[in-house]
Amino acid sequence: MERIKCLIIGSGPAGCTAAIYAARADLNPVVYEGLQPGGQLTITTEIENYPGFPNGVTGPELMDIMKKQALRFNADFRHGHITNVDFSNRPFKITIDDSREVEADTVIIATGASANWLGLPSEEKFKGQGVSACATCDGFFYRKKVVAVVGGGDTACEEAVYLSGLANKVYLIVRKPFLRASKVMQERVFTNEKIEVLFECNTLGLFGENGVEGAHLVRRMGEPNEEKFDIAIDGFFLAIGHTPNTKIFKGQLDMDEVGYIKTDGVTTKTNVSGVFAAGDVADPIYRQGITAAGSGCKATIDAERYITETPCV
Ligand code: NDP
Repeated sequence: MERIKCLIIGSGPAGCTAAIYAARADLNPVVYEGLQPGGQLTITTEIENYPGFPNGVTGPELMDIMKKQALRFNADFRHGHITNVDFSNRPFKITIDDSREVEADTVIIATGASANWLGLPSEEKFKGQGVSACATCDGFFYRKKVVAVVGGGDTACEEAVYLSGLANKVYLIVRKPFLRASKVMQERVFTNEKIEVLFECNTLGLFGENGVEGAHLVRRMGEPNEEKFDIAIDGFFLAIGHTPNTKIFKGQLDMDEVGYIKTDGVTTKTNVSGVFAAGDVADPIYRQGITAAGSGCKATIDAERYITETPCV
């Protein structure tokens, strides 16, 4: 069976950065790219806040050059989706595409998280053309425009406040009659003149000719006094939570109640020695490309030290 010194699962900024560091450290990394090679950034458009790109860079381009940088040092990128892991003994056993098994001395998990979507057909149609799940990434394009944010948690409130600094008006579409967000965030929303909170509202669909022009909403859905109405908007932002891609690790790694992998303090160490987690899969808070890349670097440094201190027989 093939034996891999450092196996990296996922090829977003965390996985690619881990691969650059691991390849330069002679750990001969093998990267399994997963179902979405390049990760979440490949579905964003222009990225203007990634340091080193004064003129911006597109998500796919950024991921392409990160991969090229890792390839330059002979990181081994492979198509394939990890379908099972066995972390009970070292070397760890990893199954690819339900068909092949490899062994790994260390594993860096960089499988990311996926934004939750409402599941509307029109949302799919306008993805990248007015529909986004990241205000920090795409908010800039809505300067002096009207946008809506869906959700009632801290992320939704934070994104609404952030967008209010750019847009002329921000609707916050909340399905319940109250916000779930912390008091301080609620206060910021309620005292912000540019934000209008639409409580007890659900989105039925989006409309527009060339991109989003508005949303069909319903207030008190299913109640006798249900009310349907439209709002005119240029951008529609989802902030209804993220789901970390950790299904295959359940029962083997410690996770929080949402499924984010728990790491030890400021390190990337999981509860299994030799298994490290980097990027959004272990980060419910920051979720930025640059923070993911930074933790990918940390994961390789942790893995390298671990290999040196605990050689695998
Ligand atoms: P949350 O799970 O806290 O909130 C998700 C929100 O989306 C809820 O209001 C929920 O509604 C709503 N929602 C979910 N599904 C739907 C749907 N299908 N239609 C309409 N609305 C929907 O996620 P967040 O991303 O906001 O936060 C995740 C964690 O990160 C939290 O612990 C949060 O506190 C933390 N965080 C902290 C920040 C900070 O401290 N500055 C900033 C950002 C996040 P409902 O309430 O009805 O379930």
